[in-house]
Parts: sequence; structure tokens; C-alpha cells
Amino acid sequence: MNSIQDNLKKIDEKIRAVTQKQNQDNLSIPKLVAVSKRQPDNKVEQSILAGHRVFGENRVQEAKQRWQARKIERPDLELHLIGPLQTNKVPDAVMLFDYIEVVDRMKLAKSLAAEMLRQGRYLKCFVQVNTGEEPQKSGVLPGNTDEFVRFCREDCGLNIVGLMCIPPVDEEPAMHFALLREMAKRNNLSELSMGMSSDFEIAITFGATSVRVGSAIFGAREQH
Ligand SMILES: *Cc1c(COP(=O)(O)O)cnc(C)c1O
Repeated sequence: MNSIQDNLKKIDEKIRAVTQKQNQDNLSIPKLVAVSKRQPDNKVEQSILAGHRVFGENRVQEAKQRWQARKIERPDLELHLIGPLQTNKVPDAVMLFDYIEVVDRMKLAKSLAAEMLRQGRYLKCFVQVNTGEEPQKSGVLPGNTDEFVRFCREDCGLNIVGLMCIPPVDEEPAMHFALLREMAKRNNLSELSMGMSSDFEIAITFGATSVRVGSAIFGAREQH
């Protein structure tokens, strides 16, 4: 077993263990989104050979280089966009990805809706919430989330399946996960994308339905 395969197996086991400890009936196992951004291609290939199919990327152009041809060869690959999306990249993003996890402003929501209609590809979307209200971070503010979710669904017709957040690096993530869960619940959203390498187990105890794990699978990223 190579190290990538081994890492995937260990994380998978942790995900199952934490989920089972929740002690609730019919809790489904959270989805593992393997974050392949800035990772060498051979490691990503190893994870595919190990049977992994769900990946996250934060840049449209990089993702296109890595995944466009692969997706044609392997239609069962599932790609999540987890980094900021500029409207000029929306056509490529809609063509390549299966999930857009970063819907966070009206202009983007409108642009996505129009492009999905044009391509006839209706992707599942998450609204990204800036739970820590950090000025440098994307995402809607918690106070604007309910209205923004309504706008995306009713005015744009986007298929919003859940909420996504990236807690501040220097804070306990638990309160951010709890806040996201609360907001999802009152908006009747069933999916929660939260938790990364350092905190995915905590996120699962707060109801994460998908976790985004990069370095714990592939090791440290290449710098840009
Ligand atoms: C890079 C990234 C991750 C993965 O981070 P790790 O700490 O390597 O697991 C998860 N989510 C988002 C939004 C990211 O940009």
C-alpha cells in the first residue's frame, strides 16, 4: 500500500469512527472531498488509483489543466470548487465542476444561474458563509445569509444544497461549525461542508456532511 492510499484509508476510518460515535440512527457517512490544489500530479493519480473519486480545487485554471482530460476518461470523478470564483471564470467553472461551494454574492449567483441555463448543466451549490466575519475572507456575513439563500433559490433558481465555511485559523472552530449548522437548519438546507485536515473530526461532531481534506492526504502543498 502506498502512502496516499494509506492516508486515505486512515482518514476514512476516522470519519467512520466519529460518525458512528454520534450514536444517532441513520446518520450517513460524510463525504471526503480530497483537496488536490497545488499537489503534485503523481500523488493525485495515486489517490485515483486507490479508488478515490471526489476532489476539491480552489482555482479554475489549475483545475482545468489537471482535470479536464481526466474527467472525460473517468466520468465518475466529482469535482468541487472550493476557492473564490470570479464571474469571468464562470463559464469554465460550470463546464468543469460538479459542485460550486463558494456562492457568496448576488452578481456571482446571477452569473452562475445564467451560465447553467446556457450549458444545460445544473450544478449543486453551497453558499459560503464568512462565519468569522473576517474582512479578507470571502463568504456572506451570517446576518445576510438567510436573505442571500432565498435570493439564490427563488430569484436565481440555483440548486442550493447547503452551506460551507472556513473558520478563522486562530479560533476554536467549534462555534463556527455550530453557527453554520444552525443557519443551515433554519434555511432547510441538508448539507454542511466544513472541516479540513486539522478539524474534520470536530466538524463531523457538529454535523458536517462533507469534509475538505488536503494536506492530511497528500502532504504539504507546493508554494505558488
Ligand atoms: C486548502 C483548502 C482546504 C484543505 O486544507 P488542508 O488543511 O490541507 O486540509 C479545505 N478547504 C478549503 C476551502 C481550502 O482552500
